[in-house]
Amino acid sequence: MEPNIPYYKPLGKEIEVFTHAYSNKIPFLLKGPTGTGKSRFIDYMAHSLDRKLITVACHEETSATDLIGRYILKGAETVWTDGPLTTAVKEGCILYLDEIAEARPDVMVAIHPLTDHRRELYIDKLGQSLKAHPDFMLVASFNPGYQRGFKEMKPSTRQRFTAMGFSYPPPQDEADILSNESGVDADTAKKLVAIGNKIRNLTELGLTETVSTRLLVDAAKLIHSGLPKRLSVHVGVVEPLTDDPDIITSLKDLSDLMI
Ligand code: ADP
Repeated sequence: MEPNIPYYKPLGKEIEVFTHAYSNKIPFLLKGPTGTGKSRFIDYMAHSLDRKLITVACHEETSATDLIGRYILKGAETVWTDGPLTTAVKEGCILYLDEIAEARPDVMVAIHPLTDHRRELYIDKLGQSLKAHPDFMLVASFNPGYQRGFKEMKPSTRQRFTAMGFSYPPPQDEADILSNESGVDADTAKKLVAIGNKIRNLTELGLTETVSTRLLVDAAKLIHSGLPKRLSVHVGVVEPLTDDPDIITSLKDLSDLMI
């Protein structure tokens, strides 16, 4: 295995499943809330399969042109420039469309012929169809967002992917992740995880997104670099979650008792 492989703690059969999806070049969908290790997992898999990874963070303005490419003006000439999808298709990379549902609908239209037996990219502006390199694989992530503010993914698109759900790790695994990522001791990691799980269980707060592993890792890093523990939890975990002053006060009080 390559040196510098990113640290990833497996939580189920995801490595085995992805490896098989990759050898069959079946598009892969990672479902789950933000900060649950989806990007880290893909980074890890790309390293262990020794494939180049190209990541596109999709947002509501992301269009098929952004992915496929465009003519740009260079002096008096217009020059065609490949977008990240075209590069990945040509060179046999893993393309990771992070938060695919956020992108414009024409992105889904562009990827459809790549996600079935055709494995082809149609480049409208060049009037060309490009056969995907045998090593090319499409991966996407999607936040199902059972609460407000997230876009849905159409069944016609999602059924083109093999899919796996990502969620918050079991407490001991999450504590190991915190220690590994930040260097905090096992006891502090355990307490941070307990705070995380306590807040996750307070569903009545109606938070759009609850405490992710990422937030706990950030708090752990602040603690490890010497910021007082309670303050680290306030700024690393509580404040990013909400702007409601009453909720902030009660979450700070609650976490102060736990660390
Ligand atoms: P997502 O892509 O789901 O939003 P990330 O992959 O960026 O989330 O994960 C956020 C952070 O959480 C990572 O940077 C890493 O520190 C940590 N993390 C979460 N799950 C794991 C895991 N299973 N192994 C290692 N680190 C993890």
